[in-house]
Amino acid sequence: MNHQETYLGPYVETITSMVSGTRMMRTCPNTECNAHGKSSGFSAFCDMCGTEFGDVNIPTQKHKVNAFDVMEDMGENLYCVLQKETSVFWVSNKSVFREKIARNTGVGELEGACEIDPLKIANEIQVFNGLHHADIEALRKVYDKVTIKWGVLGYWN
Ligand SMILES: [Zn+2]
Repeated sequence: MNHQETYLGPYVETITSMVSGTRMMRTCPNTECNAHGKSSGFSAFCDMCGTEFGDVNIPTQKHKVNAFDVMEDMGENLYCVLQKETSVFWVSNKSVFREKIARNTGVGELEGACEIDPLKIANEIQVFNGLHHADIEALRKVYDKVTIKWGVLGYWN
């Protein structure tokens, strides 16, 4: 069951360039038709031109770097939780990270108060950097821009 996660803490934002690619979709194969490239829904034939719907390769823009391949290469030490436009967001997947950072759950599971002060932020970024130095270097090799940040991430898990 998917649920909304809210993460508070250090994370990495990477920026990738885009490349042209294709994506397979079930649509009207008639390139002259306005329904071409739009989802077919459950119908067998196109409402607009009567052509039978089929699987068609549609041109699309996609990330030059595949985050899931990168994640696999680093043994999932960092976990990609969110992709927005050209940005990919990574959080620590190491249990030792959660042990070292006292606030060990997402905000959604937090009971009580969590004070945020600049010293805590600096310490947590330091812990994160220490644990993930090699992983961050690996990201720098493939991404255009890699920045370590501290903040809130909202995503579906
Ligand atoms: Zn059509």
